[in-house]
Amino acid sequence: MEVPQRLLMGPGPSNAHPRILAAQSLPLLGHMHPPFLKIMDEISDGLRYLFQTDSKYTLMVSGTGHAGMEAAIANLLEPGEKIIVGVNGIWGERVADLSERYQGQVITMNAQPGKTFSSAELKAAVAQHKPAILFLVQGESSTGTHQALGDGLGEACKAAGTLLVVDTVASLGGVPLFADKWGIDCIYSGSQKCLSGPPGAAPFFMSERAMDKLRSRKTKPATYNLDMNLIGDYWGWFGSRSYHHTGPVSTFYAMREALQIVADEGLDKMWARHLAAHQQLWEGLHSLGLQSYVENDADRLITVNTIKVPEGVDWAKVVKNAMDKYNLEIAGGLGPSAGKVWRIGLMGYNATPTNVALVIEAFRDGLKQQGKL
Ligand code: PMP
Repeated sequence: MEVPQRLLMGPGPSNAHPRILAAQSLPLLGHMHPPFLKIMDEISDGLRYLFQTDSKYTLMVSGTGHAGMEAAIANLLEPGEKIIVGVNGIWGERVADLSERYQGQVITMNAQPGKTFSSAELKAAVAQHKPAILFLVQGESSTGTHQALGDGLGEACKAAGTLLVVDTVASLGGVPLFADKWGIDCIYSGSQKCLSGPPGAAPFFMSERAMDKLRSRKTKPATYNLDMNLIGDYWGWFGSRSYHHTGPVSTFYAMREALQIVADEGLDKMWARHLAAHQQLWEGLHSLGLQSYVENDADRLITVNTIKVPEGVDWAKVVKNAMDKYNLEIAGGLGPSAGKVWRIGLMGYNATPTNVALVIEAFRDGLKQQGKL
């Protein structure tokens, strides 16, 4: 097997931290052995810190971010119930599609790609429709936007009997998030972005209110594989433990180490490091005459940056040159931003001054080759 060494500065996966790769190669344990169950308990604890919650209900869903997404919808939405989905990129679109498959009554709220929703319009929609769920993406990696989630949104959802469900796949660990303080009810994420792990495990959180909803369902979730009653029972949420599926043992070791690294650095420092990388990137890109696709500063996602492709520039050539010459992955757009932007991920282990400097150099070189500098 040949695996080239590459610097992954696209929207993910990011490079894994060497400590995490080493943890993955530790000897296997049985998925129900006490030392492994202890590691799972430690993961749940580490996730409480990462999500900033005291909730008992944290675990890793075995699967990528999509498994977390499907677990959230399949467990918290019953057939015929209303869900408001904020759509400003492909992740909202996917959740709308997924919710239809679980027979929800989907109400989409649309914002132009590159824009976010105001808390006033979100609160008004929740008060009007009183949906079972309001779904939002904190870090829309297809367009590079950051959705604000504080400002009383959680309280407004609670007052309407609505659960607030949030996708943090591209943002968790890179930007502030306070599950309890903001009144969020369910969050899913991914291991391969700001947490610097390999893909394959989805951090997952439910509030007590979300758990009440799950308990009081009239129908069983239409998925056995992602039924949180059963997965929760494997993770010890209800006191005892029983086998649901074979936990991906090595991937959980990786997450245990990833969460240790988060705790060692501390969330405040981690958020500050990501912000500094974002600022450094834009200082460099502005000096090359490049502009952000997201016009409003406050709407910019610092972990996945979208850069407008200037008139007359072949974006794909810049991407190819970066890979060929620097072994560096930068990405093009996705969904509504396809062909219009480059996307630069500044996530986890990769969010360092040296890596950012290389990205800027690759842009300088790529633009120069096309006679644009
Ligand atoms: N949501 C967002 C915001 C993402 O960026 C991604 C991955 N690019 C996903 C969901 C899906 O995650 P995965 O590819 O790990 O299934």
